[in-house]
Amino acid sequence: MIGGRLVVPKGAHGPPYYRFNAAEKQVYLSAYHIGPSTVRHYVDALNRFKPEVLTGYAYSHVTLARLMLDRGLSLNYQPAALVLGSEKLTTETKLQLQAAIGARAFEEYGSVENCLLATECEAGSLHVSSDFGIVELLDDVGAPVAPGQPGRVVATCLLNYTQPLIRYELGDIASWSLDPCRCGRSQHPVLREVVGRVDDVLTGPDGRQVVMFHGVFLGLPSVHEGQLVQETTSRIAARVVAPGGLSAGESSQIVARIRQRLGDVTVRVDTVPHIERTERGKFRAVVSLLPKPGAAGE
Ligand SMILES: [Zn+2]
Repeated sequence: MIGGRLVVPKGAHGPPYYRFNAAEKQVYLSAYHIGPSTVRHYVDALNRFKPEVLTGYAYSHVTLARLMLDRGLSLNYQPAALVLGSEKLTTETKLQLQAAIGARAFEEYGSVENCLLATECEAGSLHVSSDFGIVELLDDVGAPVAPGQPGRVVATCLLNYTQPLIRYELGDIASWSLDPCRCGRSQHPVLREVVGRVDDVLTGPDGRQVVMFHGVFLGLPSVHEGQLVQETTSRIAARVVAPGGLSAGESSQIVARIRQRLGDVTVRVDTVPHIERTERGKFRAVVSLLPKPGAAGE
């Protein structure tokens, strides 16, 4: 597991960057220490414990995979799978994970409150485990949305008897699939897409509210990571990590895709060495610097 728990003090300078949780037979690796000078220690830890399934933050695993490929490091065993959440995987990042770790990466969508679990099947669909929690996708007035339409994710725990949460709003936006999955697990409904966080909304100059931005950086081979920062309603900064340099074509594609979604905005593409993670070690795809509606004094 690579996740946001502080298993190793943040400022720690020497290995190991993990703790072994004997009760759960789990190796918990720090999300805060993965870097060029530490990657070897992460590979050593995996080779020592040989976990069958690698799980946790998607971007932490992608960062680890890229560093392994850069340095020619590999595992001395073959894990069964990666089951990753928190951030979206693209075709490119899945290929990098396959190349570095030697196993297929499956996406997982869940919550720390344990009232929702959805996992990717072998056919590539994100199935909601209906015995884990009841999931509803609702519109602004609380009515269920039609398949294909984005709605607020509301979930009811079926497993947590100590702190049951009923119709708990997760702060995410998702849509149901229009088609059943060909794997045949029709008892587990399929999410077409988890579009993003409710907080990940950007506002266009004409007032439109847009949440679907992960397509902006798709299919651009130089882009390792990308983040959009809304500076004003008419100005967006696209922050891009592209170690080999960004081509002019890619840069103009990013600008065009943002304008397609938001309208007539000024877009600045900044190449940066890295994109900061949150306090919890998570990657944020979208950051809005606009004052929140109703925020005092703004
Ligand atoms: Zn399926």
